[in-house]
Amino acid sequence: QSKAQGGNTLRFFDQMMQKAIIARVDLQNELRQAIKQQQFQLYYQIQVDSNSQPLGAEVLISWQHPERGRISPRHFIPLAEDIGLILPIGQWVLETVCAQLKTWQEDPLTEDLVLAVNVSAKQLHQVDFVEQVIATLQRHSTNPARLKLELTESILLNNITDIIAKMKALNKIGIRFSLDDFGTGYSSLQYLKMLPLDELKIDQSFVRNIATDSSDRAIVHTIITIASSLDMNVIAEGVETNAQRLFLQKKGCLRYQGYLFSKPVPIKELEAILKRLNTIPLPDKK
Ligand code: C2E
Ligand code: MG
Ligand code: MG
Ligand code: MG
Repeated sequence: QSKAQGGNTLRFFDQMMQKAIIARVDLQNELRQAIKQQQFQLYYQIQVDSNSQPLGAEVLISWQHPERGRISPRHFIPLAEDIGLILPIGQWVLETVCAQLKTWQEDPLTEDLVLAVNVSAKQLHQVDFVEQVIATLQRHSTNPARLKLELTESILLNNITDIIAKMKALNKIGIRFSLDDFGTGYSSLQYLKMLPLDELKIDQSFVRNIATDSSDRAIVHTIITIASSLDMNVIAEGVETNAQRLFLQKKGCLRYQGYLFSKPVPIKELEAILKRLNTIPLPDKK
């Protein structure tokens, strides 16, 4: 009896596995088509200073799948990295963002804003990554000072010498770097000091319970102190409440991103938000 049941369970798992594998292969094939079919969209999430004035936005990709609907990058970026598709996808993002920045450069409302693009390890490890980025900027006559690249700490695990050289070459022409999800990885302070970083980005997992969890408060406080002693800016992601923002501000974190200000939105919506912020003066601006 129990043996028969075990057999059934095994067969059941076997079928599940098979289904999972087929689903993954399907998704791979569909992902390959997605660029050609123009199924990717960029969403922009505003980043603000302590007066709620815009500094720019983070660019987040999304996949509008014809049957499955909108798929979060959390689900397809790791797959794209595994099968090498992150290279053409990443290039498409950079191309689109450079073109967008060029348009923004022609409007006084947006000319000073910075767009932050997420970059995967695979992209940065390409031998000609620096040349590709420079060529893309030139193709669109984009000011490199308006482009920020977000790297995660895991990037620093391999070939650190090569990564530093590439970051320095790009930083020299004005591109800024932000270290994303900071605190969740393994950065040694030794490396941090060697990297041309403009900004540390406090991971949202520490921000979430900042009002109630004393160890999260301590971690956030420490990250802000590290940034300040290394002369870097610090930004908090996942800011959802005014209490979180006030705590961050009190501790010296003066840049914020999160649902409190706006969710990620299409470019037209972001531009509408920027116009609104510009026409409604803040009380202390009079
Ligand atoms: P990330 O770079 O850490 O992006 C922040 C994530 O937090 C985004 O999720 C964003 O929608 C979400 N978020 C923003 N504000 C809040 C908030 O107030 N509360 C909460 N709970 N969440 C908030 P998303 O869009 O699903 O992106 C997930 C990850 O996918 C990103 O994490 C990034 O690592 C990656 N990703 C997104 N776009 C790209 C891309 O173009 N290239 C690469 N290589 N990776 C990307
Ligand atoms: Mg990011
Ligand atoms: Mg992040
Ligand atoms: Mg994160």
